[in-house]
Amino acid sequence: MQISAIDVFPVHLPMLQSFSISGGKVGDKNAGAPHVYVKITTDDGVEGWGEARPSHRWSYETIETVVTTINNYFADALIGVSIFSLDEIHYIMDKQIASGITRGQPIAKAAIDMAVLDAIAKTNHQPLVHSWFTKPQSTINLSYLISVSNEREAAEKARIAKAGEYKGVDVKIGIDPDKDLAILKTIKEILPDVYFRVDANQAYHLKDAMRLSKAMEEIEISVFEQPLAAGDLIGHAKLREFTTIPIALDESIWTPADVVRAIQLGACDTIVIKVTKMGGLSRAKRCGDIAQAAGLELLGGGLTESSLGLYAGAHLFHALGISTPVDLNGPLFLEDDPSQTKATIREGAVKLPVGIGIGWEVDKKKMDQFSIDL
Ligand SMILES: [Mg+2]
Repeated sequence: MQISAIDVFPVHLPMLQSFSISGGKVGDKNAGAPHVYVKITTDDGVEGWGEARPSHRWSYETIETVVTTINNYFADALIGVSIFSLDEIHYIMDKQIASGITRGQPIAKAAIDMAVLDAIAKTNHQPLVHSWFTKPQSTINLSYLISVSNEREAAEKARIAKAGEYKGVDVKIGIDPDKDLAILKTIKEILPDVYFRVDANQAYHLKDAMRLSKAMEEIEISVFEQPLAAGDLIGHAKLREFTTIPIALDESIWTPADVVRAIQLGACDTIVIKVTKMGGLSRAKRCGDIAQAAGLELLGGGLTESSLGLYAGAHLFHALGISTPVDLNGPLFLEDDPSQTKATIREGAVKLPVGIGIGWEVDKKKMDQFSIDL
């Protein structure tokens, strides 16, 4: 069961709305959202599919680098390798694109890892989650993503989340402590009982984060995510000592070694599992297992992947026992994707496919329609 072909499909998917974080716009409605689909074909004719969703405002990987990394550095090196040798596949990818201060090009590697695991599960005629010895679940609860610049917009979005019956929100902050607090209070008044995740995407220095965390204790925020710069684990450890609000790390945690360092320094209560930043399903599972063994909580997140990446991530989050609403918000921003079974949100949850593999089927016509030349 060897890899006989790797095909790469860069696309721009139509968006319902633009999407910004504290670092800037990560998805532009006019330009479309950059996604890369990867198809791995085995010598037995099985097709495994994976997805990468790069954003140059979130990390250094771009749609161009994902495509050239896979086409120019991974594809030839992986032809002829058994799909069941996933560690060997990662060894080859890590040798081809060496690590810098963290794993090199994890988003590109994640698309390969996802496609290989899809192909393995299809070869074994079983759902993806059987690889982790758990049974499939049919839905996953989402947190509604709110990224706004004032209280009026915040109230508007909070009402949409309420009407959509979401069980959680993920509020992007990073303007300044006073404006952020006003936004959070507005949302909390409208949604007093939902799981309340606040994500600064590294926007703050320690003193401001301390001030804000004390105010957030008053309004019972559930978790404060990545308040400080990714490299500042000591600052996060100090903040964690200072506040009763659980501190989550996202951009600080890319590899199992990062999880170990965060544990050693007492830098967080929670880590955010994301399939693509961690180099794929298998590495993300390893990060989750290590964190849980050390008593940390897990949050589920994504980089606004389309249906393929959403389903794969959701299956992994269930296998890891993540029960809080997850940030897999592609359907909130994408108007369409090249999927026969497009993920749609109902009552704040997404229905998951229960077929073999990831359960995702390509719509070839749409893949052609959305394809771009680089
Ligand atoms: Mg985050």
